[in-house]
Amino acid sequence: MSNSTPAPARGTQRGSLQRPLRVAVVGSGPAGVYAADLLTKSAPVASGELTLSIDLFDRYPAPYGLIRYGVAPDHPRIKGIVNALHKVLDRGDIRFFGNVDYGTDISLEDLRCHYDAVIFATGAIKDADLNIPGIELEGSFGAADFVSWYDGHPDVPREWPLDAKEVAVIGNGNVALDVARVLSKHADELLVTEIPDNVYRILKESPVTDVHVFGRRGPAQVKFTPLELRELSHSHDVDIVLYPEDFEFDEASDREIQTNNQVKTMVGTLTNWIAEQPEDPSELTASRRLHLHFLHSPVEIVDSAETPGRVAGIRFERTELDGTGRARGTGEILEYPIQAVYRAIGYFGSSLPDVEFDHLRGVVPNDGGRVLDADGAFVPGVYTTGWIKRGPVGLIGHTKGDALETIGHLLDAREELPAAEEPAAESVVALLEGRGVAYTTWEGWLALDAHEKSLGAAAEPAPTHKGPVARERVKVVSRDEMVAISADGAGVSAG
Ligand code: NAP
Repeated sequence: MSNSTPAPARGTQRGSLQRPLRVAVVGSGPAGVYAADLLTKSAPVASGELTLSIDLFDRYPAPYGLIRYGVAPDHPRIKGIVNALHKVLDRGDIRFFGNVDYGTDISLEDLRCHYDAVIFATGAIKDADLNIPGIELEGSFGAADFVSWYDGHPDVPREWPLDAKEVAVIGNGNVALDVARVLSKHADELLVTEIPDNVYRILKESPVTDVHVFGRRGPAQVKFTPLELRELSHSHDVDIVLYPEDFEFDEASDREIQTNNQVKTMVGTLTNWIAEQPEDPSELTASRRLHLHFLHSPVEIVDSAETPGRVAGIRFERTELDGTGRARGTGEILEYPIQAVYRAIGYFGSSLPDVEFDHLRGVVPNDGGRVLDADGAFVPGVYTTGWIKRGPVGLIGHTKGDALETIGHLLDAREELPAAEEPAAESVVALLEGRGVAYTTWEGWLALDAHEKSLGAAAEPAPTHKGPVARERVKVVSRDEMVAISADGAGVSAG
């Protein structure tokens, strides 16, 4: 990789132009909003040396990306991050253009014409592949698709086939726990959240009795986090079931338990649960069970003999730890009868038109957030941050560090950026309107936000086991409806 910086591709260099630096951020999830916000708080801006004009684009009519379409509805603590992001966008110094699809409604060429720099913060919303026989069977799902469905993503079908009594969830990360919790929780308990009505209706009819979560390594190698683990035990009328034979700890596990507080806490939680559970499974009282299995590596999803093409079971190879915390197969095959399987083995980024893509890692190739071309040279004025920069790992707060690194490089290069040919703030509005793009604005989002909350307030309270509880909001799912409600808030263009 040469990393040499070729001459700016267009126009003059910005040099010491007196107009504001124009920056487009593509993606209004936490990564994009943090990048925009940190730019406005950077030293050259604070000192008055630099003025900025930032536009935030999103392909959805609403902002917040994975917080709206990736965080489980029963996670209000994380939704609290929305309040912080709201404050940033409500200040009025960053414009929001929703319902604008990069690659369809606006191209890289357009962005480079209207902005001095572009930051891609498009995240990752697809499931990583799991290449085992049977993965294509009916009843085999990606966790990310299921998350999109229960979070009311506008571009996924409204229906979901929740007809299985026994379900397998593959993976030991927080997404696996989210999916297992949502699948096992009683729908009325979820109705207090913002789940859309279609999601409640289908969850309410679910015949599920047993959700099995399978990790391929041991209890000290899980990727989930302590709060999320403990939360499993808060579901009403759901028993957690653990298996003593899965509690294997090698030298690496012992070291982790001694040196890593998170691991120590989680292993402590799991061993307490196993100590408390009745030895005789028939003494479990809840109507649903959530089983946590370790040392199971998936090898095959079993086709149904009665209804070929449908999931009827899943086979795992029993694993053992090799002393370093990694797992190796033992040759023992274990089979479980299940009728649906969700792979929660990680997200994967999607490629972006006109930007190089690393198809192995699912990221935009970059050096510290400076986007690279096919030859490994910096693409002047093009940057990236968040999961599309470094892959889908880490909690939401981690994207702040990412954003700092990226904007640091952008600001360092500010004198050499290829200057926008049409830097007037209104020229991009004219471009979108000229193309008939029905973009939404911040005011439009405020209207949609208020509308969803009012739907929640007007709805029948949720009949939880603690008695009726008011609904927080009811999410609007249809893209057209979202755009129309935003437009009523005077936020949508004539397009
Ligand atoms: P993750 O944390 O990377 O976990 C992926 C899991 O899948 C790991 O247990 C991994 O096992 C397993 N896995 C990978 N390939 C596998 C295979 N071929 N067969 C069997 N198992 C396999 O991914 P994630 O759960 O998608 O989460 C992504 C990020 O979002 C994480 O940082 C997570 O903490 C965050 N998140 C946070 C929350 C929250 O509530 N705080 C909610 C959702 C997501 P190995 O460890 O053995 O590779």
